[in-house]
Amino acid sequence: MPSNFLLLGFFIATFTVCLASDPSPLQDFCVANPKGSVNGFACKDPKLVQADDFFFSGLNITGNTSNPVGSKVTPVTVTQIPGLNTLGISMVRIDFSPSGVNPPHTHPRATEILTVIEGSLEVGFVTSNPNNTLISKVLVKGDVFVFPQGLVHFQRNTGNASAVAIAGLSSQTPGVITIGNAVFGSNPAIPDDLLAKSFQVDAKTVDLIQSKF
Ligand code: MN
Repeated sequence: MPSNFLLLGFFIATFTVCLASDPSPLQDFCVANPKGSVNGFACKDPKLVQADDFFFSGLNITGNTSNPVGSKVTPVTVTQIPGLNTLGISMVRIDFSPSGVNPPHTHPRATEILTVIEGSLEVGFVTSNPNNTLISKVLVKGDVFVFPQGLVHFQRNTGNASAVAIAGLSSQTPGVITIGNAVFGSNPAIPDDLLAKSFQVDAKTVDLIQSKF
């Protein structure tokens, strides 16, 4: 019956469209290697896999926050746990000194879900252009907050003591672009007159900020 064939054709077309997508990138770029490369890492022989391939120890250790921003991220990604390869998930511990900041940054490959396990944090993210709305909140121990994939976000310790957060990220290699470091601390530097025009300040101001990175 022609109508059944039509229906079948429709389902095949729909199914094909659903599958017609590239896998999400697992690194900033993957220049094609004609000898063969993969998006991520090649797989270890399953017969040689051990429990330690899925294991990390040390997330109880306080990160060293003695730095200008007063925070330290301890990552547990595919680099620390090879078993995370292809699983699309990872974790971090973030330590904050009193008034410490995790500066504005974005994860190009992951949404982040964060919980405060010690102290309190002011957190926020900014929506994309043209609105650039700031969505922010103060979190206390046990609170959970989400930073959608790709959006610029931050945390700041609002308490008098140190603070600790644990976050899950939806990539084995979430990546991190810290806005200040990327814009003012790139190597080689973005021309200061270009940044001066972009930020509507003079080149001297740009040079001062660049000197901090
Ligand atoms: Mn983050």
